[in-house]
Amino acid sequence: MEYDKNNIFAKILKGEIPCKKIYENDYVLSFHDVNPQKKIHALVIPKGQYTDLDDFVQNAKEKEIYEFFKAISHVAKMLKVSNVDGGYRTLSNIANNGGQEVPHLHFHIFGGEKIGKMVS
Ligand code: 5GP
Repeated sequence: MEYDKNNIFAKILKGEIPCKKIYENDYVLSFHDVNPQKKIHALVIPKGQYTDLDDFVQNAKEKEIYEFFKAISHVAKMLKVSNVDGGYRTLSNIANNGGQEVPHLHFHIFGGEKIGKMVS
């Protein structure tokens, strides 16, 4: 799938749409989901233009991949949901069957309460 430069997360990265920022570095941006499904619902996105996890793993530099996954764990610590704070769930929807709505790679972080069934 070709990357859509006008997707909503691309606009957030460009500063055209506001977000409630949690964390940012040269490689990633993390912000609160606009429509939280749990007490804590954060998103982590790479700054590079990747549609989904498969695109990312195939085309990103190793440093980008390393920084992305490190950032998920870092954000979980910042939000006090890490493995020593009760835990959390991370999730990435991929393409149609995965239920992906925004075509820019993102991982969800759900926490702050019991997350429940793995899939419904
Ligand atoms: P997906 O279904 O693609 O895995 O998840 C997309 C997520 O992006 C949804 O949880 C949705 O609430 C969130 N979202 C969509 N538009 C915006 C927005 O403009 N700002 C923020 N912060 N989140 C958004």
